[in-house]
Amino acid sequence: MDQEILTSIDTRIDDAYLLTYKSLAEAEKLVEICLDDSEQNEYFAGTINAKILLTLISVQKGESDLVRDKLSRIEEELKSFSSDDSQMRLAHVRGLYFLKDGVYRDSFDSFVKAGNLAARLGNQLFQALSANGKGFIKLGQREFQDSHHYFNAAKTFQLDLPPSIFNSVLSVNLACSLNGLNRDDEAFLLLEAALKYAQEEHAEILECSILDEMAQIHMKNNRLKEARVPLKKGLDLSKRLVHSEIRAELVYHYAALLLREGEYDAAEDFIQKFGMESKMGIQKSMFHKIAADIYEQKGEFQKALASHKIVNEIHERVGFSQSVHSVLMQEKRELQDQNHRLSLMSIIGQELVANLDIGKILDLIYTQLNVLMPVDLLSVAMVNEDEIDVKFSIKEGERLQPFVIHKENQDSILAWSVRNDKEIFMRSIYEESNLYAKGFIPAVFKGVSRMESVICLPLRYLDQIVGVLTVQCNKKNSYTTEDLENLRALATYAGIALRNARQTERMSELNEDLRRQSSQDSLTGLATRREFARQSSNIWRICRRNSFWISIIMIDLDHFKEVNDTHGHASGDEVLKKFGDELNHYFKRPLDCAARYGGEELLILAGDICPREAAMRVELLREEISSFEFESDKGKFTVNFSCGIIGEVPKLESDAGIAKLTDFADRYLYEAKNNGRNCTYLSDQADQAAKKFIISHTK
Ligand code: GH3
Ligand code: MG
Ligand code: MG
Repeated sequence: MDQEILTSIDTRIDDAYLLTYKSLAEAEKLVEICLDDSEQNEYFAGTINAKILLTLISVQKGESDLVRDKLSRIEEELKSFSSDDSQMRLAHVRGLYFLKDGVYRDSFDSFVKAGNLAARLGNQLFQALSANGKGFIKLGQREFQDSHHYFNAAKTFQLDLPPSIFNSVLSVNLACSLNGLNRDDEAFLLLEAALKYAQEEHAEILECSILDEMAQIHMKNNRLKEARVPLKKGLDLSKRLVHSEIRAELVYHYAALLLREGEYDAAEDFIQKFGMESKMGIQKSMFHKIAADIYEQKGEFQKALASHKIVNEIHERVGFSQSVHSVLMQEKRELQDQNHRLSLMSIIGQELVANLDIGKILDLIYTQLNVLMPVDLLSVAMVNEDEIDVKFSIKEGERLQPFVIHKENQDSILAWSVRNDKEIFMRSIYEESNLYAKGFIPAVFKGVSRMESVICLPLRYLDQIVGVLTVQCNKKNSYTTEDLENLRALATYAGIALRNARQTERMSELNEDLRRQSSQDSLTGLATRREFARQSSNIWRICRRNSFWISIIMIDLDHFKEVNDTHGHASGDEVLKKFGDELNHYFKRPLDCAARYGGEELLILAGDICPREAAMRVELLREEISSFEFESDKGKFTVNFSCGIIGEVPKLESDAGIAKLTDFADRYLYEAKNNGRNCTYLSDQADQAAKKFIISHTK
């Protein structure tokens, strides 16, 4: 055998593989020649590979019965001659055959086998073809992210091969997965570039599938008019094609378009005229499914039933669990599942937004999230200027104490996420940390319980990062991209909630400030008159109910004008401050209330204390004050005060009672002023004259 001839046969067979994407007729012609050449040269490998490729062409044409025949004959022949190369090609055809029939699991297994053999043989073309096949399965199962992954993989294998139409085919396939991922703009860019190539190369099969995909994107977006144009063009073009598959797709989609437009008769005519010839599983069931829809819309239920029956038969033939039907059911389940997740997210989200205390509902999020995904550690942190305030965290069901992480902390995963304003999605922290930062192994995970999977999302309000949400699990690969999507939805709400919570926190701080301002005198720290009114009536009621004494003490500083005049107003303020401190010290029981009543007049209500006891306290205060030396640039000075005290066991209502006693205290104070100042006048009975209170040790 002439080696050169054999090599040329091999090369042409591979060319024919690529040619199937351009024109099945041309590909078939080329393979027939290879088959003849192989037989003449008794090149068995060439013969069998050509036959395998002819089978593939039959698959592409939808010649279901022929394919089964051919496959079993080839298997018979391969019993006496077996090579990895032929097994690889056979596995690839099988993959494609099962794919068209909707038997995805067998299809996937076949592509895996073909791919493995191709890897062992270093055959890049078949590695690319197998990856492409897997991509199609995922497309059929509507797992667009995975299909995108496989098509991309196919492209990388293709990179080392000479440029061919396969490149553009892969671009179109990628566009299909992008369409599924709703990345329509990117999909269109790829499709437009591929369309140019297809037209220049007269690759009509490719052109048809591009037009079909463009139409599908339009349909998806409800642009029915725009969808009609490429569909019509594709249908026109496909008339000349031997390749029936793409034509069937176009017919199917055009009928679907008519159905959507409410043109039931036209849709029926159309599907009758083009659609009902025997096709392989997936297509046949597709056609009957749409026919059933049309009949149902027209009220022709007998016919609809007949179509349904055919669909079911197909499903049963390909095996229920792997059939189109099951794919559709699966899709429905996934949809319901997704709906469930979304509504759950929305409930959690609404709760989050409505509640101002995130701490309270963190438990709720935690339990609800646990239903959706495994959560060993959940935390919600607020982001401040330089710090991340981890306010709420639950680890294995237990609330942790709040803690603070510095933004520049190089060990912290939260800090990394906040610093870089990026999401973190790791399936295994130890294996993937390096993706985020070199040598980055977060310290949190060096601890006792190793966390493996992590999703960390910055929480935003408008453009600002207000917080960070983290979900972790101690097992690898715990989270899917779907979990990520769900959490993103939650994060949107959480961002708003955090901002609300912070706003509320600030508001209550502000309110607290205001409350303090209205209740506490800023110079002395004593109660204001308003606060005195509030507190004193409470104390009054308690004492009245319990028949406790109440004493009211009124104090006025002696010759305070002089202090101001001699030592300055600031020194006067110092004196008032000192009085405030001392009063707060001597009258600090729950039943006491000391207030700044006027400029330098101080009023104290003391519950459960009789006037004498009150006077003793005042004398202690007097000792303290009069021995205290104030200082100004004019020199040292001391201060005295006068005091009036009255008390009773309350009988009247609080307002009237307090007003009456205050009035008497004021009178007795006046008495003290008139009798030499620096002393106390008291009475334990209103309406009676006060007596000067003298204790033996007073100076
Ligand atoms: P008397 O012994 O008769 O009470 O003499 P007095 O000088 O203390 O007279 P009076 O109580 O009538 O005067 C109160 C003075 O207290 C008038 C005012 O200048 C001063 N004063 C009131 N509020 C403040 C304040 O907040 N700071 C300072 N430095 N002085 C105040
Ligand atoms: Mg005074
Ligand atoms: Mg006064």
